[in-house]
Amino acid sequence: MDLTLSPSEQRFRDELRTWLEDNHPGAEPPGDDAAFDHRRRWQRRLFDAGYAGFSWPTEYGGRGATMIEQALFGEEMARAKAPSPANILGMVMGGPVVIHHGTEEQKERWLRPILTGEEIWCQGFSEPESGSDLASLKTKAIKSNGDWIVTGQKVWTTFAHKSKWCMLVARTDPDVPKHQGLTYFIMDMEQDAVQVRPLRQITGEPEFNELFIEEARIPDENVVGGVGNGWGVAITTLMNERAGLGAASAVGVRIGLDELMALARERGVADDPVIRQRIGQLAIEVELLRLNAWRGLTHTMKHGMPGPEGSLPKWQWSDVNQSLTELAIDILGEDGAAWDSPWAYRFLRARANSIEGGTTEILKNIIAERVLGLPKLR
Ligand SMILES: Cc1cc2nc3c(=O)[nH]c(=O)nc-3n(C[C@H](O)[C@H](O)[C@H](O)COP(=O)(O)OP(=O)(O)OC[C@H]3O[C@@H](n4cnc5c(N)ncnc54)[C@H](O)[C@@H]3O)c2cc1C
Repeated sequence: MDLTLSPSEQRFRDELRTWLEDNHPGAEPPGDDAAFDHRRRWQRRLFDAGYAGFSWPTEYGGRGATMIEQALFGEEMARAKAPSPANILGMVMGGPVVIHHGTEEQKERWLRPILTGEEIWCQGFSEPESGSDLASLKTKAIKSNGDWIVTGQKVWTTFAHKSKWCMLVARTDPDVPKHQGLTYFIMDMEQDAVQVRPLRQITGEPEFNELFIEEARIPDENVVGGVGNGWGVAITTLMNERAGLGAASAVGVRIGLDELMALARERGVADDPVIRQRIGQLAIEVELLRLNAWRGLTHTMKHGMPGPEGSLPKWQWSDVNQSLTELAIDILGEDGAAWDSPWAYRFLRARANSIEGGTTEILKNIIAERVLGLPKLR
């Protein structure tokens, strides 16, 4: 692992930094719809400048950039406090899955509108009784006259209310072992058979939803990776999700740490030995996260795909971000309970970090079994 940047990488970073200074879209306006439209316009601007999904191959609308440049891009976006692009799930998961497992027709149909932000994607994996044990999911798909008829329920589906397409895993064969009976579909959300009901999070935002699916139709050409291979395709999705969090989240918490130190000074507790000890510990963890994120990147560059190592930075990031926001609330004292304080929002949103994209317990199991090679529990 080489942590120094080459002259061309440095040039790339400097150009990007200047571009971000000139093109930063400003703070998100209040309100779910207005904020989402703001992100959508921002994504279009990124696309027009060649910065959307730019590590994707050039034939699919990307720029064929290296993983290092992709990581630098994430770092610079975090440093500039730029908003996320609207179609984050399509870019981080949907696109890479279609590139890896899709047919040429599927790539032709789906990839460009993911990058432009014209078609938003969501991830329909979790169900009311299947989250960590995803392979036990019950949503079923039955073939009928060339189409698949899908019935079931999904939950926690982020941005489903904005989405045109859903990465949906459903059971197509109930008679084989659970991991083998699954198929990965891309489902059109614009049909009456798919009902989307918002769920409000602890922050008050309706970012995710329940999906009620009653005999929805999915044409056979929307199967990705072949019937019965849904588990393998889902794993590609999850590894991309966890790896995608790496470098950018490391910079995000580094910036958060600077803001926390400024808060400690502002509140006159920067000399308090207990506060100093907690900040010192966080600084160590933030640096460890950065190094592990880069280690994951090195793996992806060598092997072409993120590996189970991506689980480590995801786990570290959620721990660090939760500790950091907890300390901010402790420093703020009773002011930390003010509903409209930015730190209160960050504290509440951070609770989801150790659940979304795989819980910390599950990530620890993956690291124990697949990275350290420890014996399996089951
Ligand atoms: C903000 C947010 C956004 C999300 N967005 C999406 C989305 O867009 N699409 C989607 O499909 N899902 C999404 N999810 C769902 C998320 O992936 C699941 O919540 C997560 O996988 C956990 O599943 P569960 O909620 O069913 O909990 P469960 O699996 O029921 O787990 C409950 C508890 O048991 C523990 N546990 C379970 N199994 C084990 C085990 N084998 N060993 C040790 N401990 C175990 C868990 O760690 C957890 O603490 C989102 C969640 C959040 C919070």
